[in-house]
Amino acid sequence: MTASARLLIVGPQGSGKGTQGVRIAEAFGIPVVSTGDIFRANIKGGTELGQQVTAILDRGDLVPDELTGEIVRDRLSQDDAQSGFLLDGYPRNVAQVGHLDEFLSARGEALDAVILLDVPREESIARLSLRAQEQGRSDDTEEAIAHRLEIYENETAPILAVYGERGIVDRIDGIGSLDEITERITSVLAARGLTLAS
Ligand code: ADP
Repeated sequence: MTASARLLIVGPQGSGKGTQGVRIAEAFGIPVVSTGDIFRANIKGGTELGQQVTAILDRGDLVPDELTGEIVRDRLSQDDAQSGFLLDGYPRNVAQVGHLDEFLSARGEALDAVILLDVPREESIARLSLRAQEQGRSDDTEEAIAHRLEIYENETAPILAVYGERGIVDRIDGIGSLDEITERITSVLAARGLTLAS
C-alpha cells in the first residue's frame, strides 16, 4: 500500500534537507521532486534547459519563477506523483507559493505538511564548506554560498509565515544523527495523521 502525503521540506543550504527528503519520501513511497536536482541533471545532460540555467545556478541566483513553475507542474503531472510527493526546493519564494497553490487547488489538492529543518547559520556554513571540498558542486564557491544563504533568508524564509498561517509547518531540530532527525520528522508527520507506506 502506498500512503498519500503531499509534503514540502524547507531548510537553509547545508541543513541536510536533500538527504532527509529522500529518506522521508522512501518511507512514504512517494517521489522526491527536487528542483535543484532537476536543474543539475539537465546541466549534466547538456539539454536546452540545462544551457539556459547553468550560469544562474553558478551565481547562486534563482531561476525565473515562470520557468521553474513550468518544470514543477510537468513533474507533478506525471503518474507517480498523483497520490503524493515530497517537494524539495520549491516553492522558494512567496510568488512560487501562489503558483503552487493554484496548480494544486485546480486538482482539489493542498500540501499536508511543511517540514522546516532548522540549523543555526554557523552550522550550515560549516557543513557547506565541507560539502564543497567533498563534492565540488560548482555553486559551492564562497561567493555563491553567501548569495544563496542571503536569498534563503530574504525570499525563502518568508514562505514559512504563509504556510504557518495555515497551521501546516513542523519545525524540526536539524542537529543530531541522520536517523534521529528522520525519526523526528516521521513522528511529527504521524501526529498529523500521515502514516508510512506499509
Ligand atoms: P541549495 O538549497 O543548496 O541552494 P538546491 O539544489 O535546492 O540547492 O538548488 C540549487 C539551485 O537551483 C538554486 O541556487 C537555484 O539556482 C536553483 N533553484 C532550485 N530551486 C529553485 C526554485 N524553486 N526557484 C528558482 N531557482 C531554483
